[in-house]
Amino acid sequence: MNADESSLRSPGSAGRVIVAIDGPAGAGKSTIARRLARRFGLLNLETGAMYRAFALKALRAGIALDAIADLAKLADETHIRLEASGDENRVLLDGEDVTALIRDQSVTDAASRVSVFPAIRAWMVRLQQEMGAAGGVVMEGRDIGTVVFPRAEVKIFLDAAPEVRGMRRFDQLGPRPALQPDDVIRDLRARDERDRNRADSPLKAAPDAVLLDSTDMTLEEVVKAAEEIVSARLAELAASHETRIDRA
Ligand code: C5P
Repeated sequence: MNADESSLRSPGSAGRVIVAIDGPAGAGKSTIARRLARRFGLLNLETGAMYRAFALKALRAGIALDAIADLAKLADETHIRLEASGDENRVLLDGEDVTALIRDQSVTDAASRVSVFPAIRAWMVRLQQEMGAAGGVVMEGRDIGTVVFPRAEVKIFLDAAPEVRGMRRFDQLGPRPALQPDDVIRDLRARDERDRNRADSPLKAAPDAVLLDSTDMTLEEVVKAAEEIVSARLAELAASHETRIDRA
Protein backbone atom coordinates (compact mmCIF):
# COMPACT_ATOMS: atom_id res chain seq x y z
CA MET A 1 0.00 0.00 0.00
CA ASN A 2 1.34 3.46 -0.72
CA ALA A 3 0.79 6.61 1.33
CA ASP A 4 -2.17 7.74 -0.76
CA GLU A 5 -3.97 4.47 -0.21
CA SER A 6 -3.71 4.66 3.55
CA SER A 7 -5.12 8.18 3.51
CA LEU A 8 -8.21 6.87 1.73
CA ARG A 9 -9.00 4.53 4.62
CA SER A 10 -10.67 6.66 7.21
CA PRO A 11 -11.47 5.68 10.79
CA GLY A 12 -14.75 3.83 11.04
CA SER A 13 -14.22 2.49 7.54
CA ALA A 14 -15.80 -0.64 6.15
CA GLY A 15 -12.56 -2.43 7.00
CA ARG A 16 -11.63 -5.28 4.75
CA VAL A 17 -14.79 -5.67 2.70
CA ILE A 18 -14.85 -5.74 -1.08
CA VAL A 19 -17.52 -3.72 -2.85
CA ALA A 20 -17.92 -4.84 -6.48
CA ILE A 21 -19.58 -2.46 -8.92
CA ASP A 22 -20.31 -3.72 -12.40
CA GLY A 23 -22.36 -2.41 -15.27
CA PRO A 24 -22.24 -1.14 -18.85
CA ALA A 25 -20.39 1.94 -20.07
CA GLY A 26 -21.79 5.27 -18.97
CA ALA A 27 -23.91 3.86 -16.14
CA GLY A 28 -22.04 6.09 -13.66
CA LYS A 29 -19.89 3.38 -12.06
CA SER A 30 -16.79 5.56 -11.65
CA THR A 31 -18.64 8.39 -9.92
CA ILE A 32 -20.53 6.04 -7.63
CA ALA A 33 -17.38 4.04 -6.82
CA ARG A 34 -15.53 7.24 -5.97
CA ARG A 35 -18.31 8.46 -3.69
CA LEU A 36 -18.63 5.08 -1.94
CA ALA A 37 -14.87 4.93 -1.41
CA ARG A 38 -14.93 8.36 0.21
CA ARG A 39 -17.97 7.63 2.36
CA PHE A 40 -16.82 4.21 3.64
CA GLY A 41 -13.07 4.79 3.72
CA LEU A 42 -12.25 2.33 0.96
CA LEU A 43 -9.66 2.27 -1.77
CA ASN A 44 -11.19 2.86 -5.19
CA LEU A 45 -9.88 0.73 -8.07
CA GLU A 46 -11.06 1.30 -11.63
CA THR A 47 -10.32 -1.83 -13.63
CA GLY A 48 -11.34 -0.36 -16.99
CA ALA A 49 -8.29 1.90 -16.74
CA MET A 50 -6.06 -1.19 -16.85
CA TYR A 51 -7.63 -2.47 -20.08
CA ARG A 52 -7.31 1.04 -21.46
CA ALA A 53 -3.61 1.25 -20.58
CA PHE A 54 -2.91 -2.04 -22.34
CA ALA A 55 -4.93 -0.91 -25.37
CA LEU A 56 -2.85 2.27 -25.53
CA LYS A 57 0.33 0.19 -25.61
CA ALA A 58 -1.07 -2.01 -28.40
CA LEU A 59 -2.03 1.06 -30.44
CA ARG A 60 1.41 2.59 -29.95
CA ALA A 61 3.05 -0.68 -30.99
CA GLY A 62 0.88 -0.77 -34.13
CA ILE A 63 -0.43 -4.23 -33.26
CA ALA A 64 -3.71 -5.25 -34.91
CA LEU A 65 -6.37 -5.41 -32.22
CA ASP A 66 -7.40 -8.92 -33.25
CA ALA A 67 -3.86 -10.36 -33.38
CA ILE A 68 -4.13 -12.33 -30.17
CA ALA A 69 -0.68 -13.99 -30.35
CA ASP A 70 0.99 -10.58 -30.71
CA LEU A 71 -1.22 -9.07 -28.01
CA ALA A 72 -0.42 -11.91 -25.60
CA LYS A 73 3.31 -11.45 -26.25
CA LEU A 74 2.93 -7.71 -25.64
CA ALA A 75 1.08 -8.43 -22.39
CA ASP A 76 4.06 -10.52 -21.21
CA GLU A 77 6.27 -7.45 -21.57
CA THR A 78 3.86 -5.00 -19.95
CA HIS A 79 3.60 -3.66 -16.41
CA ILE A 80 0.38 -1.94 -15.42
CA ARG A 81 -0.22 -0.38 -12.03
CA LEU A 82 -3.15 1.50 -10.59
CA GLU A 83 -2.31 3.95 -7.83
CA ALA A 84 -4.75 5.82 -5.66
CA SER A 85 -4.24 9.55 -5.98
CA GLY A 86 -6.81 11.49 -3.99
CA ASP A 87 -10.18 10.21 -5.21
CA GLU A 88 -8.81 9.26 -8.59
CA ASN A 89 -6.67 6.46 -9.95
CA ARG A 90 -3.30 7.15 -11.53
CA VAL A 91 -2.50 4.61 -14.20
CA LEU A 92 1.11 3.65 -14.79
CA LEU A 93 2.01 1.84 -17.99
CA ASP A 94 5.58 0.52 -17.73
CA GLY A 95 6.18 3.33 -15.24
CA GLU A 96 4.71 6.09 -17.45
CA ASP A 97 1.72 8.02 -16.13
CA VAL A 98 -0.89 7.56 -18.87
CA THR A 99 -3.92 8.64 -16.81
CA ALA A 100 -4.95 11.42 -19.20
CA LEU A 101 -4.03 9.60 -22.43
CA ILE A 102 -6.28 6.59 -21.87
CA ARG A 103 -9.49 8.64 -22.07
CA ASP A 104 -9.02 9.26 -25.78
CA GLN A 105 -11.79 7.82 -27.99
CA SER A 106 -9.38 5.62 -29.97
CA VAL A 107 -8.18 4.06 -26.71
CA THR A 108 -11.77 3.61 -25.48
CA ASP A 109 -12.61 1.67 -28.63
CA ALA A 110 -9.36 -0.36 -28.54
CA ALA A 111 -9.86 -1.29 -24.86
CA SER A 112 -13.25 -2.74 -25.70
CA ARG A 113 -11.64 -4.86 -28.46
CA VAL A 114 -8.59 -6.21 -26.61
CA SER A 115 -10.66 -7.08 -23.55
CA VAL A 116 -12.48 -9.91 -25.37
CA PHE A 117 -9.41 -12.19 -25.32
CA PRO A 118 -9.18 -14.78 -22.51
CA ALA A 119 -5.37 -14.49 -22.27
CA ILE A 120 -5.62 -10.75 -21.69
CA ARG A 121 -8.51 -11.12 -19.24
CA ALA A 122 -6.75 -13.84 -17.23
CA TRP A 123 -3.73 -11.56 -16.81
CA MET A 124 -5.88 -8.57 -15.78
CA VAL A 125 -8.01 -10.63 -13.39
CA ARG A 126 -4.86 -11.93 -11.67
CA LEU A 127 -3.54 -8.39 -11.21
CA GLN A 128 -6.91 -7.18 -9.92
CA GLN A 129 -7.18 -10.06 -7.45
CA GLU A 130 -3.73 -9.21 -6.12
CA MET A 131 -4.65 -5.53 -5.75
CA GLY A 132 -7.88 -6.27 -3.90
CA ALA A 133 -6.69 -9.26 -1.87
CA ALA A 134 -6.39 -7.32 1.39
CA GLY A 135 -9.96 -6.00 1.03
CA GLY A 136 -11.03 -2.48 1.94
CA VAL A 137 -11.73 -1.71 -1.73
CA VAL A 138 -14.41 -0.61 -4.11
CA MET A 139 -13.56 -2.21 -7.43
CA GLU A 140 -15.49 -1.30 -10.54
CA GLY A 141 -15.63 -2.92 -13.96
CA ARG A 142 -17.62 -5.50 -15.88
CA ASP A 143 -16.75 -8.82 -14.22
CA ILE A 144 -15.82 -7.94 -10.64
CA GLY A 145 -18.79 -9.59 -8.92
CA THR A 146 -18.84 -12.56 -11.32
CA VAL A 147 -15.16 -13.40 -11.91
CA VAL A 148 -12.62 -11.23 -10.09
CA PHE A 149 -14.25 -11.36 -6.64
CA PRO A 150 -17.26 -13.71 -6.80
CA ARG A 151 -17.30 -13.70 -2.99
CA ALA A 152 -17.30 -9.90 -2.64
CA GLU A 153 -19.35 -8.85 0.39
CA VAL A 154 -21.27 -6.21 -1.57
CA LYS A 155 -22.20 -6.39 -5.24
CA ILE A 156 -23.99 -3.67 -7.14
CA PHE A 157 -24.96 -3.89 -10.81
CA LEU A 158 -25.48 -0.36 -12.05
CA ASP A 159 -27.48 0.08 -15.23
CA ALA A 160 -29.43 2.70 -17.20
CA ALA A 161 -31.13 2.89 -20.59
CA PRO A 162 -28.57 3.22 -23.43
CA GLU A 163 -29.95 6.60 -24.55
CA VAL A 164 -29.60 8.00 -21.04
CA ARG A 165 -26.08 6.63 -20.64
CA GLY A 166 -25.15 8.02 -24.05
CA MET A 167 -26.47 11.49 -23.21
CA ARG A 168 -24.63 11.52 -19.89
CA ARG A 169 -21.41 10.54 -21.66
CA PHE A 170 -22.05 13.21 -24.33
CA ASP A 171 -22.47 15.89 -21.64
CA GLN A 172 -19.32 14.70 -19.87
CA LEU A 173 -17.26 14.99 -23.05
CA GLY A 174 -18.15 18.69 -23.36
CA PRO A 175 -18.71 20.64 -26.58
CA ARG A 176 -17.00 19.08 -29.58
CA PRO A 177 -18.10 20.43 -32.95
CA ALA A 178 -17.88 17.11 -34.80
CA LEU A 179 -19.63 15.06 -32.15
CA GLN A 180 -23.38 14.36 -32.04
CA PRO A 181 -25.26 12.60 -29.21
CA ASP A 182 -26.23 9.84 -31.67
CA ASP A 183 -22.53 9.09 -32.33
CA VAL A 184 -21.91 8.63 -28.62
CA ILE A 185 -24.99 6.42 -28.17
CA ARG A 186 -23.97 4.30 -31.18
CA ASP A 187 -20.44 3.84 -29.80
CA LEU A 188 -21.80 2.92 -26.41
CA ARG A 189 -24.16 0.33 -27.87
CA ALA A 190 -21.28 -1.23 -29.85
CA ARG A 191 -19.17 -1.51 -26.68
CA ASP A 192 -22.15 -2.96 -24.78
CA GLU A 193 -22.65 -5.56 -27.49
CA ARG A 194 -19.02 -6.63 -27.31
CA ASP A 195 -18.99 -6.71 -23.49
CA ARG A 196 -22.26 -8.64 -23.19
CA ASN A 197 -21.62 -11.16 -25.94
CA ARG A 198 -17.98 -12.10 -25.51
CA ALA A 199 -17.46 -15.77 -24.65
CA ASP A 200 -15.14 -15.10 -21.71
CA SER A 201 -16.68 -13.39 -18.66
CA PRO A 202 -19.39 -11.42 -20.46
CA LEU A 203 -20.92 -8.42 -18.77
CA LYS A 204 -23.83 -9.62 -16.64
CA ALA A 205 -25.10 -9.16 -13.14
CA ALA A 206 -23.95 -11.70 -10.57
CA PRO A 207 -26.96 -13.65 -9.24
CA ASP A 208 -26.46 -12.06 -5.81
CA ALA A 209 -25.88 -8.49 -7.05
CA VAL A 210 -28.27 -5.69 -6.14
CA LEU A 211 -29.56 -4.13 -9.36
CA LEU A 212 -29.62 -0.36 -9.44
CA ASP A 213 -31.23 1.19 -12.52
CA SER A 214 -30.40 4.88 -12.65
CA THR A 215 -32.38 5.71 -15.80
CA ASP A 216 -34.79 8.01 -13.96
CA MET A 217 -32.57 9.00 -11.06
CA THR A 218 -30.35 12.00 -10.41
CA LEU A 219 -26.73 11.42 -9.52
CA GLU A 220 -27.36 12.26 -5.86
CA GLU A 221 -30.26 9.79 -5.75
CA VAL A 222 -28.04 7.04 -7.16
CA VAL A 223 -25.27 7.85 -4.68
CA LYS A 224 -27.76 7.73 -1.81
CA ALA A 225 -29.23 4.42 -3.00
CA ALA A 226 -25.76 2.89 -3.40
CA GLU A 227 -24.73 4.10 0.06
CA GLU A 228 -27.86 2.53 1.51
CA ILE A 229 -27.10 -0.79 -0.19
CA VAL A 230 -23.57 -0.81 1.27
CA SER A 231 -24.71 0.30 4.75
CA ALA A 232 -27.45 -2.36 4.85
CA ARG A 233 -25.02 -5.07 3.84
CA LEU A 234 -22.41 -3.93 6.38
CA ALA A 235 -25.07 -3.98 9.12
CA GLU A 236 -26.06 -7.49 8.04
CA LEU A 237 -22.43 -8.64 8.16
CA ALA A 238 -21.92 -7.06 11.58
CA ALA A 239 -25.10 -8.72 12.89
CA SER A 240 -24.09 -12.15 11.60
CA HIS A 241 -20.63 -11.65 13.15
CA GLU A 242 -22.22 -10.82 16.53
CA THR A 243 -24.49 -13.83 16.26
CA ARG A 244 -21.48 -16.04 15.67
CA ILE A 245 -19.72 -14.56 18.72
CA ASP A 246 -22.87 -15.00 20.88
CA ARG A 247 -23.05 -18.65 19.87
CA ALA A 248 -19.37 -19.27 20.59
O1 C5P B 1 -14.87 1.05 -17.73
P1 C5P B 1 -14.15 1.53 -18.96
O2 C5P B 1 -15.06 2.14 -19.97
O3 C5P B 1 -12.98 2.39 -18.64
O4 C5P B 1 -13.56 0.20 -19.61
C1 C5P B 1 -12.93 0.18 -20.86
C2 C5P B 1 -13.21 -1.16 -21.54
O5 C5P B 1 -12.55 -2.20 -20.83
C3 C5P B 1 -14.69 -1.55 -21.55
O6 C5P B 1 -15.33 -1.13 -22.74
C4 C5P B 1 -14.70 -3.07 -21.41
O7 C5P B 1 -14.75 -3.66 -22.68
C5 C5P B 1 -13.34 -3.36 -20.78
N1 C5P B 1 -13.46 -3.82 -19.40
C6 C5P B 1 -13.65 -5.16 -19.16
N2 C5P B 1 -13.66 -5.63 -17.88
C7 C5P B 1 -13.50 -4.80 -16.84
C8 C5P B 1 -13.33 -3.42 -17.05
C9 C5P B 1 -13.33 -2.95 -18.36
O8 C5P B 1 -13.81 -5.93 -20.10
N3 C5P B 1 -13.49 -5.30 -15.59
